[in-house]
Amino acid sequence: MRYRIVPVTKFRQNCALLWCPDTMAGAVTDPGPEVDKILAAIAEEGVSVKKILVTHGHADHSGGAAELSERLGVPIEGPHRADDFLIEAMPKQAQRTGLAARIFAPDRWLEEGETVSFGNITLSVIHCPGHTPGHVVFHHPASKLAVVGDVLFRGSMGRCDGPRGDHMALVNAIRGKLWPLGNDTEFIPGHGEMSTFAWERASNAMICDFVDYD
Ligand SMILES: [Zn+2]
Ligand SMILES: [Zn+2]
Repeated sequence: MRYRIVPVTKFRQNCALLWCPDTMAGAVTDPGPEVDKILAAIAEEGVSVKKILVTHGHADHSGGAAELSERLGVPIEGPHRADDFLIEAMPKQAQRTGLAARIFAPDRWLEEGETVSFGNITLSVIHCPGHTPGHVVFHHPASKLAVVGDVLFRGSMGRCDGPRGDHMALVNAIRGKLWPLGNDTEFIPGHGEMSTFAWERASNAMICDFVDYD
């Protein structure tokens, strides 16, 4: 699988274009409301986008999903249904963040253990609540790459002080569901630089193996 990160909005949210090199079919993850920039990247890479994948319902991640879906004529898959209340609150999120975020209707809600596909690529869906209750992560085992949204960052982890946030749920999701994917897994976080699970387990002051949450 090939990928290109397209940072969008003033929050430098890592929208990502993922594609299958055999077929050039692809997907866009987390289209924040800066759709022209995303469309330019798609055109530059020559990718035929088949779907939009959403990790969670925050405006910087999914506020551009409606517009991108309309302009490309493709469906929106994700997040988990538990983020419905955030998507419903998109107008309020837009007001608070100053982003031109629009409400959207997922064509498919995602559940733990399901898969999403484009071209010859299949990603597994991992439900990782905590930052938001319906947050999902996309994992491609063959290339050992995960798109983790605001679950985990290089040196940090997602905030849990928002509506329906749950710090221990997030800790348990990271340790119980992400670490078992393997230390050599590389990840695209929702913001900032890419990293690996090995680096976070050794050096992340919030969630490394030496932090005791029990
Ligand atoms: Zn978020
Ligand atoms: Zn974010």
